[in-house]
Amino acid sequence: MTQPIIRIDRLEKSFGSLKVLDGLSFDVMPGEKLALIGPSGSGKTTILRILMTLETITGGHVEVCGEQLFHMRRNGAERPADEAHLHHMRRHIGMVFQHFNLFPHKCVLDNITLAPILTKGEPRAAAERRAMDLLEMVGLADKARAMPSQLSGGQKQRVAIARALALQPRIMLFDEITSALDPELVEEVLLVMKRLAAETDMTMLLVTHEMGFAHEFADRVLFFDRGRIVEQGPPDQIFTRPTHERTQSFLRKII
Ligand code: ADP
Repeated sequence: MTQPIIRIDRLEKSFGSLKVLDGLSFDVMPGEKLALIGPSGSGKTTILRILMTLETITGGHVEVCGEQLFHMRRNGAERPADEAHLHHMRRHIGMVFQHFNLFPHKCVLDNITLAPILTKGEPRAAAERRAMDLLEMVGLADKARAMPSQLSGGQKQRVAIARALALQPRIMLFDEITSALDPELVEEVLLVMKRLAAETDMTMLLVTHEMGFAHEFADRVLFFDRGRIVEQGPPDQIFTRPTHERTQSFLRKII
């Protein structure tokens, strides 16, 4: 039987006295496309940042590709074991952020090939070939030699997606990737994401406020409130027949 690629078990996360995740448990199967929705402050981004090991946890367990992401210390706090373990685990996961963070002094092609060449020791020619294929996929093959300052926000975000994909992670995390864009630029990024979801068997977790997009993109939608999953299911069920009152009132406000 296929094992989950991500197992989150009774996960707790506090920032000081603020409990952000409160005994959260869910599994993700390989290839699944998940949309995480819910009010601001409900802990969605924190989950992605924990998976990316940008945050530590204060309780519970997180397993990725069959290995624990954090190891228990005697005082109860969990922390990544060491830099080598972190490096080893991080190769499984790529993340695209709200702000694209491209290297401003590198052209588009170099932005995409830098990490594969430097961190994975890939030959430049092979890294560039794959980068060109990825640029083709995001519709920007003609911008390979452009500088980030010459691109629109939507184009920058499409380069950021190609850059994350270039490391060939098994899991991709997308955090509000359209929320910093002008409305007319959102559509081109969503189109790329839909193509990506349809064409790859990568596991994808997406935090979004674009409900129409979540509906089309996801196999499963998780609705969060106050650090817990209130309701989850296929998009048709969550968006047209939500059963929980909090889901209903959230969707009424946002749609
Ligand atoms: P969402 O993505 O659902 O909007 P977040 O995961 O970003 O929610 O945030 C959940 C809560 O955690 C918020 O109240 C936020 O202010 C708080 N928070 C997030 N990161 C930090 C941090 N580094 N320090 C203190 N509080 C934080």
